[in-house]
Order: sequence, then structure tokens, then C-alpha cells
Amino acid sequence: MAEALGLLSQHGDDAAVIAGGQSLLPLLNFRLSAPELLIDISRLEELKQIVGGDDYIEIGGLVRHCDLGESTLVAGAMPLLHQAIGHIAHPAVRHRGTIGGSLAMADPAAELGACCLALRGQISLLSSRGQRWVAATDFFHGIYETALRPDELLAAVRLPKQDPDSVHIFEEVARRRGDFALAGLALVAAPDDLRLALLGVADRPILAVKTMALLTERPGAVDEAAELIAGEINPPEDPAYSSAYRRHLVGVLLRRALARLPQ
Ligand SMILES: Cc1cc2nc3c(=O)[nH]c(=O)nc-3n(C[C@H](O)[C@H](O)[C@H](O)COP(=O)(O)OP(=O)(O)OC[C@H]3O[C@@H](n4cnc5c(N)ncnc54)[C@H](O)[C@@H]3O)c2cc1C
Repeated sequence: MAEALGLLSQHGDDAAVIAGGQSLLPLLNFRLSAPELLIDISRLEELKQIVGGDDYIEIGGLVRHCDLGESTLVAGAMPLLHQAIGHIAHPAVRHRGTIGGSLAMADPAAELGACCLALRGQISLLSSRGQRWVAATDFFHGIYETALRPDELLAAVRLPKQDPDSVHIFEEVARRRGDFALAGLALVAAPDDLRLALLGVADRPILAVKTMALLTERPGAVDEAAELIAGEINPPEDPAYSSAYRRHLVGVLLRRALARLPQ
């Protein structure tokens, strides 16, 4: 760890960290990224732990998607993550890709960023200058842009334990199973609180704050919420899928998710 942080502090601007390589290697192959130095962190055992504290679970930056999906600790305390993992790519990618790599990459359609928002995650960033914690709500700055500084490693994600009566629901639409989502939704509903995060509909994962407020106050207001959420977002146009189509999808996903809540 000390060696990795030392190298990052010396070469940060010209270096890239490589974890599972599932996003970085395509970028290198297409020459979209050309770092002078690759720092391979994939054998840093201290970043591979999933630890349960009294009131939180901490997931090391190098925990692979498949390990998250198989963790009974995660499945019990954070069923949202357990559901979301099955939507990330295919088993081959999930056996190498890591949570730290996914969050650091900050693809707006990635599942784990939205889950961290819905679960009130805190992200630990480590450098030879020390450690700082950034709330998931402040971590994502735009497409592939985050709060990470060039000399920092994403060391862990800390997720507070959820209300035992909370219900966790993950929904997404992708063109084919395993593709990046066209739109997705992560919902955590506790008796007096509802968190709703969206992916694939903005330049970063976002919380649907107006719809959260409406549904916390009036959980039965399904039609109103589906209309509100479609107006609350402004997805970018792209050649294949219009902004209006993604807005429509989010309304459909919200209805599906609310129908899964115990009545
Ligand atoms: C075919 C295919 C389909 C995919 N589908 C999906 C999908 O549906 N949903 C989804 O979310 N993802 C998808 N992915 C991406 C996959 O989940 C990646 O594994 C993940 O986004 C990056 O994790 P990694 O460990 O492979 O990171 P790497 O590729 O090693 O790194 C990615 C970026 O993060 C930086 N980085 C990595 N780890 C750290 C760290 N600890 N600290 C600081 N910086 C770090 C690297 O420098 C690089 O810039 C797909 C990938 C492929 C190849």
C-alpha cells in the first residue's frame, strides 16, 4: 500500500491505477487513455475485505463484483447491492471488475454508484497525505468525473446499516441482459424514509429528491410520483435513445418498483 501511494504521489498526473482492468483496458486499447505508468493495485489484500461494524458495512475498494454478490453479510444487510450485482455485465466481467474501479470510473449508467447514493454511502479516499471521506452525493462530478485527486486511491466504501424494516428494490432496463442500463432505479424504503437513486439518465447517478419527498409523505401516490419523476429529470439526448424515451422508462421503472413494495 505504501509503495502504491508513494508511486501515486510521485507520478499521479501521468499514472493510472489498474484494478480489475475491465474499464481501463478497453480505454487503453482504443488509445483513449495513454498513461506513462500503470500502477497495478490488484494484489493489495488490505483493500479486499468486507467488514461489518456495529452500524455499518465497509467494502474495500478491490472487492470484486462477484464477491459482493456472494457475500452473505451484504445480502443480509444490503439486499439492494445483492440485487444490483446481477445486472452488471456478465460473470467474466464480474469476476475481475471491482467496486472501487466502478465508482472511480463514474460511468453514469453504472449500477453501484446509484446504490451508494440510495444507501447513503461514504467513500474513503487515501493518499500519502492521509485519508478523507466524501459522501457519495458529493463524489460524482460528471461523466467519468469524480472527487478523486490524482494521488488518491479509492480505498473503501462505508454503508450505514439500514432500518431492519426497510425494503430494497433495484430495477433497470437494458437492451440485452448484461448491457449497460438505458435507465435504472435503486430504491430503499423504510417506514418513515424513502431514498430513490437513478442511473443512466443524467451525467452522473442522481437522487430523485422531489419524488422521494412526495413518496415519503404519501407512499400511495403512485400516478403522481411517476409523473413527477419524469419531469424531475432531463436525460441527455443520444442518437439511439431520446431524452423523452428515458424519461418514460424511469416512470415505468418507478411503477414496477412501487408495485413490489409490501402493501
Ligand atoms: C463487456 C463489459 C460490460 C460491462 N457492463 C457493465 C455494466 O452493465 N454495469 C457496470 O457498472 N459496469 C459494467 N462494466 C464495467 C465493469 O463493471 C468494470 O469492472 C468497472 O467499471 C471497473 O472496475 P475495474 O476494477 O475493472 O476497474 P479498472 O478498469 O481497473 O479501472 C477503471 C478506472 O478506475 C480507476 N481505478 C480503479 N480502481 C481504483 C481505485 N481503487 N482507486 C482509484 N482509482 C481506481 C482506474 O485508474 C481507471 O481509471 C462492463 C465492462 C465490460 C468490459
